[in-house]
Amino acid sequence: MRLSRYFLPVLKETPAEAQIVSHRLMLRAGMIRQASAGIYSWLPMGFKVLRKLENIVHEEQIRAGHNPMLMPTLQSADLWRESGRYEDYGDEMLRVTDRHGRDMLYGPTNEELITDIFRNSVTSYKQLPLTLYHIQWKFRDEVRPRFGVMRGREFFMKDGYNFDVDQPSAMHAYNRHMVSYLRTYERMGLKAIPMRADSGPIGGDDTHEFLVLADTGESEVFYDSAILDLKLGDREVDYDNWDQCAAIKQEWTTPYARTDETHDEAAFTKVPEARRMSSRGIEVGQIFYFGTKYSESMNANVVNAEGERVPVHMGSHGIGVSRLVGAIIEASHDDRGIIWPESVTPFDVGIVNLKQGDTAADEACETLYRALTAKGLEPLYDDRKERAGAKFATMDLIGLPWRITVGPRGLKNGIVELTSRKTGESQELKPEDAVARLVEIYAEI
Ligand code: ATP
Ligand code: MG
Repeated sequence: MRLSRYFLPVLKETPAEAQIVSHRLMLRAGMIRQASAGIYSWLPMGFKVLRKLENIVHEEQIRAGHNPMLMPTLQSADLWRESGRYEDYGDEMLRVTDRHGRDMLYGPTNEELITDIFRNSVTSYKQLPLTLYHIQWKFRDEVRPRFGVMRGREFFMKDGYNFDVDQPSAMHAYNRHMVSYLRTYERMGLKAIPMRADSGPIGGDDTHEFLVLADTGESEVFYDSAILDLKLGDREVDYDNWDQCAAIKQEWTTPYARTDETHDEAAFTKVPEARRMSSRGIEVGQIFYFGTKYSESMNANVVNAEGERVPVHMGSHGIGVSRLVGAIIEASHDDRGIIWPESVTPFDVGIVNLKQGDTAADEACETLYRALTAKGLEPLYDDRKERAGAKFATMDLIGLPWRITVGPRGLKNGIVELTSRKTGESQELKPEDAVARLVEIYAEI
């Protein structure tokens, strides 16, 4: 993409309404614009990051054996009356009436709709286990939408639902989700810690929230710092292997890690003092096992191996995809702007032409642009007639992990400069070596 043709409305001023850094930077970097309270338009660059996160979520869900699908945003109130949640959900539910006077709602979550789909098609344990998920916009009429996409009213969420014949099988689904979530966040360059959470009004036997540590997080968290050393890395995971998934869950849930809702001071003091941490965290996902809560109220039964009709065991599992865009920025920025991890960056590398209009510089940039594109990388070429300082400031603000700087002086010696956004370190390289280096870097992602 050429910057001269890209819609990137960066702001020089710091927007007054933004209280936290991710919100400020998303506005300044031209990623989002507010449409109304808690509702945002995703401009091209924000949309690109959102899509990248969505793709990672899809890839990891499919790897875990889950079925992608798509349910609508508008739902009929009748299903929610069956489960009893139409009244219970309260003011966060946006209720609408269609022209025939039918009660509808903008889905805040999808347990009812998915249970209805399930009960109309699945009757036997032989069709299980089954996990269905989608990534779709949700609406919750939050009292105080704030912090940009962190607490929106309309937000993008992955929600998945497992259906199992009994409790042990449902616990494997729970563990499998935990492992796939750990992998998902790791791929996004994030450390998200599973913390025992409170099951709240959804009602459940087992639930963990995933929290990214950040001063601006809305949750208070307590944890053993040993958990920060855990990493899945490139471990091979067989998602059908109950023991392996259980062992990984065990590994991640052994060190103390809880939100304030479930915090247990007595248990916490058993952690060696030097490792006892308390801080703030951003909830980026949650997994739930809730047994037969919905299957009983909505008559979702299957015949088991013994020939008995039993209510199916379920769990629901969510990832806050749009919130993650903000969470990644909270975790990775400096005072000049965003620093994208390579796996989610909107463009792989920025090309800065120091002297637009100079034949040698223009040609070298074009050649680089073509070479990078041919290797499957996505460059953003700043081909505007701007001062070098302004170009650097834009690149720093939008946070592409790598920048190639091309200028007449370097070209006289046959070199360009490759700079890391994170460390600020630069290397002088021949243009073709800069391309090769980037190919190497991105091959590892
Ligand atoms: P919270 O406690 O932050 O209100 P929740 O526990 O009600 O969230 P879940 O039902 O667990 O939310 O939804 C799954 C995920 O969706 C959350 O972990 C979070 O990342 C994201 N999410 C929930 N509410 C919002 C919101 N208003 N704006 C953006 N993302 C949200
Ligand atoms: Mg939650």
